[in-house]
Amino acid sequence: VAVNKDSDLVHIAHVTAELAPIAKVGGLGDVVTGLARACLSRGHTVDVILPFYECIPTRQITELTLICTYNSYYDGNWVPTKAYRALISGIPVILIEPSNHFFKGQTIYGGSYNELEAYVFFSRACLEWMQVTGTQPDIIHVHEWQTSALPLLYWDMYHNLSLKKPRIVLTIHNMEHYGECRKEQLSKSGLDGDVYATADKAVDDRTIGHNPERLSLLKGGIVYSNAVVTVSPTYMKETLCSGWLASTLIKHRDKYNGILNGVDTAIWNPATDIFLPAQFNAERIERKKICKQYVQKGLGLATETITSANDIHVVMDKIPLIVCITRLVPQKGLHLITHAIKHVVELGGQIVVLGKASDGRVEREFKGLADLHKQGPSIRILLMYSEELAHLLYAAADMVLVPSVYEPCGLAQMIGMRYGAIPIVRKTGGLADTVFDIDDHSNHEISNGFVFEGIDEGSLNSALDRAFAYYKEKPDEWKNLVQKVIKIDNSWNNTAGKYIGVYNSVRAR
Ligand code: ADP
Repeated sequence: VAVNKDSDLVHIAHVTAELAPIAKVGGLGDVVTGLARACLSRGHTVDVILPFYECIPTRQITELTLICTYNSYYDGNWVPTKAYRALISGIPVILIEPSNHFFKGQTIYGGSYNELEAYVFFSRACLEWMQVTGTQPDIIHVHEWQTSALPLLYWDMYHNLSLKKPRIVLTIHNMEHYGECRKEQLSKSGLDGDVYATADKAVDDRTIGHNPERLSLLKGGIVYSNAVVTVSPTYMKETLCSGWLASTLIKHRDKYNGILNGVDTAIWNPATDIFLPAQFNAERIERKKICKQYVQKGLGLATETITSANDIHVVMDKIPLIVCITRLVPQKGLHLITHAIKHVVELGGQIVVLGKASDGRVEREFKGLADLHKQGPSIRILLMYSEELAHLLYAAADMVLVPSVYEPCGLAQMIGMRYGAIPIVRKTGGLADTVFDIDDHSNHEISNGFVFEGIDEGSLNSALDRAFAYYKEKPDEWKNLVQKVIKIDNSWNNTAGKYIGVYNSVRAR
């Protein structure tokens, strides 16, 4: 798709803990890649600065070149650090590799080092790199608590040294993680932790009066950034109304924005997707059926037979396949996911869950379910992270389930729609901004899925029941709906412009 170039060009440096596809754990990785690519194609200059995690598969990196070796301060020492330039999925990246134990191990998170201290080190190492190389982007775009110490380090340290031009934008992808930090941990960066232990700076408000030692990097990031963005308009409203950061956000409301994430259409495109046995688009949805059969066969689920390749009705009214692709954490509505597994089968459908748990108890619970159903005709629970399977499952699915308790934005429902899977979602955060119920007649133009409100099983049942009835009883409408959701533009083309607006509103002129 040809994209018009913007006239007022910005140099943006993202500082992030994740980048899809090489260092992705959840939506954060997708968002940075997608937004970076969209800004590049509009003519802006973009660098993404990422820790050089030991677990990054180097075969997916092109043009890896060492650009400098420098020292970055940490806890009384200067740590020799290497900066590499590389191209990842077409995006210019700077990889920061300290010579100490930070970022070593087989996973992005959960290594044997102190994560908080590693990211505080990384935040300073990025600024130090800019200083030694004389790199002065217009915007330093930080993400989540991991890089929220950077705004403090910038305004109270590096801006007094040689970095004058950059302004800071912080995107909060999930308010649940706020970077709980002891004063002395922040002091290891070279800042004085005591200075930030006040209500108007970084002290964790929940502990005022009894634990003034505790700071929140995310709160500090909100206070010290020039603009703060969260990932959907509804989540923005929700976070202004509840949660302990609400009072800080209200105070800084003038610089707080809700901008919906987009889908990276270079990675997520059913018409060109190399992982699929058959590519498709809204005009050729009969080929989606081939993907469904491929997945059913591959997983040993009961298959439907294609009576006629062109007659989608014959095959679409049999066994609906529903997928749920998610991190298995409480936020995602674990009790609703396990309930859906039962209810979908009662309704005569099939369900595949692709998920990774980070908690042992959750892992065991889902492993038990997986083992119980692994030979059956209708249920598969795949406890792993697999980019390839995710692509295949979205393509194969008739429906995509996102029953989150809360959801800042959510990509699964948007990716699912692009691949012709009808979303069934709980009405919260970004799900409420992107999915509109078929039976809400005031919204007919934009209706595109099934929405429920309660966090109880009955609410979920009613949405599943309605979706299954629609699928079975109204095959023509269902087909139209599939074509409609594939055509919805939830890409970054649509929303990157709002970020450019934020960049332009804060940049130094
Ligand atoms: P979050 O950021 O909270 O994890 P999002 O819906 O915003 O949730 O983004 C999740 C992203 O991660 C989507 O691209 C989804 O397809 C992907 N994903 C989640 N779990 C897995 C998994 N086990 N395997 C492959 N992809 C996954």
